[in-house]
Amino acid sequence: MIATPTLPLEPASPAYICPFDQACSYLEAAAKELKLDQGVLEILSHPRKVVTVSIPVKLDNGEIRVFAGHRVQHSDILGPYKGGIRYHPAVTLREVSALAMLMTWKCALLGIPYGGAKGGIAIDPKQYSASELERITRRYTSELIKDIGPSVDIPAPDMGTSAREMAWMMDTYSVNVGHAVPGVVTGKPISVGGSRGREMATGRGAMIIVREALADQGRSLDGVRVVIQGFGNVGIAAAELLHQAGSKIIAVSTSGGGIYSEAGLDIPAVKAYASRNHRSVVGFPDAIAINNADLLTLPCDVLIPAALENQITEENVNQIKAQIIAEAANGPVTLEANRALEARGAIVLPDILANAGGVVVSYLEWVQGLSYVFWDEERVNREMEHLMVQAYHQVIQQSKLRQIPLRLAAYTLGVGRVAQALTDRGLYP
Ligand code: GLU
Repeated sequence: MIATPTLPLEPASPAYICPFDQACSYLEAAAKELKLDQGVLEILSHPRKVVTVSIPVKLDNGEIRVFAGHRVQHSDILGPYKGGIRYHPAVTLREVSALAMLMTWKCALLGIPYGGAKGGIAIDPKQYSASELERITRRYTSELIKDIGPSVDIPAPDMGTSAREMAWMMDTYSVNVGHAVPGVVTGKPISVGGSRGREMATGRGAMIIVREALADQGRSLDGVRVVIQGFGNVGIAAAELLHQAGSKIIAVSTSGGGIYSEAGLDIPAVKAYASRNHRSVVGFPDAIAINNADLLTLPCDVLIPAALENQITEENVNQIKAQIIAEAANGPVTLEANRALEARGAIVLPDILANAGGVVVSYLEWVQGLSYVFWDEERVNREMEHLMVQAYHQVIQQSKLRQIPLRLAAYTLGVGRVAQALTDRGLYP
């Protein structure tokens, strides 16, 4: 394993699974398969720039609190850094670094001209008022002013952030530089240059990839039994689109617990309930309560983890019954669990493919903004679908050609394209 001296170690407990080490292991496996030069691997194993800033903020009660905000820029070999901003209590520098690396391979795999980055603040956004979150977001943006920009690094929403935070970031950046710069972030509200279709994009992309995987088995979305862990932006969109396509969503969950119905959940009703119930599905009538651990092991055709990392682990992998696992979240399956699933022939649709719909529509938003021409939703969805289906078939082809599982196939394509560009650009000086 390559040492990563740029990142401080985090306190290790026996149960701690370091996301950055896992990301490096996948990179090393791809490098080995591609017979990459050791020096190229060494470069790709390190983030190019790691920034941590202090964010002092006055809370509504007058108290001052200082938060730590990270932005990790993994690679800009193929284009400007690109990736979301996460607000979650479990955010660490190592997690953000792993997610930044994933963005590099994701953008390369999808053929969009971006590098990879990720940002995050270790806070629970539910504990803060909208005006406190606005001050946190604006100060964080202001501290990063020299590190971001429409041709430098383009943030977007991730877990715990949405179009609202992107509007604050865009405004703060614009006021600081003295003119409107909509292209500095994506996932913005439509009113300030956002794209139609962006909000549903990650869930839509996951639905498309599941549909293609089923089609390869001669099946369709109609009637398949689906379990979704996570009912946030991504989980809701995936659930709605699959429900519309005739799939039976038998269980969904939020962090406090899940709900299960053998006959299939009425997804529009669950969505309406969650929006009335502080975004939680717990207590939804006409369903059985189920905890998050049991939800993952329900018998079903397709399991969609759409929440946090490390949900399918060595501990529970032998109880997972789904034959298709679509990673709508980033890194929901650990390295060991991935190995076990692949060994028993389950189809793991990897995160850098299955959840790429979001960044693809981010790219389409950026392109629309730069060209001052905005498309209708039908066009956005069509262009996104084209890139997703194309990447899916490239991964399948690579998997067949090299006789390797889908994740390694996706990684070899993403890593291979970045390595090729790195080699062509050469090393400065
Ligand atoms: N946060 C999303 C992801 O992990 C979207 C990133 C983006 O649109 O830049 O892919």
